[in-house]
Amino acid sequence: MEKFAELVKEAIKAREKAYAPYSNWLVGAALLCKDGKIYQGCNIENFAFTATNCAERTAFFKAISEGEYDFEAIAIVGGDRQKGLESYCYPCGVCRQVMSEFCDPDEFKIINGISEQQYQVYTLREMLPHAGYVKGGNNEGNSFFGNKV
Ligand SMILES: [Zn+2]
Repeated sequence: MEKFAELVKEAIKAREKAYAPYSNWLVGAALLCKDGKIYQGCNIENFAFTATNCAERTAFFKAISEGEYDFEAIAIVGGDRQKGLESYCYPCGVCRQVMSEFCDPDEFKIINGISEQQYQVYTLREMLPHAGYVKGGNNEGNSFFGNKV
């Protein structure tokens, strides 16, 4: 799907901004909103490792802080600083949980890319099965668990 190839391209651009002096593993993400806006994210490491933030959550938190709550897909690319993009880079468990707070598990797509020509597409449910999914968190503080397990 051409739209997803474009999203992978945006994730590759986002990866250039990664701050990863400790792992040298650069990750970029591009989050597509249903209105067509794209929020980029990169991993941001810290000497105190627990303060590190993943690219996916960076993109989500940027979007949510701008009032966006309707998400369609996220593209993720990652790889070693020197070697580049050699393999698929999957979201960590924490990022999958954040996605489940805001995204429909059967509609939201997670695109793991190596290039614009080579990527995989999964639903959030495939990436995080049997989770306590939330349907439609919003900025009024409303979130509730769905029963679609
Ligand atoms: Zn993560």
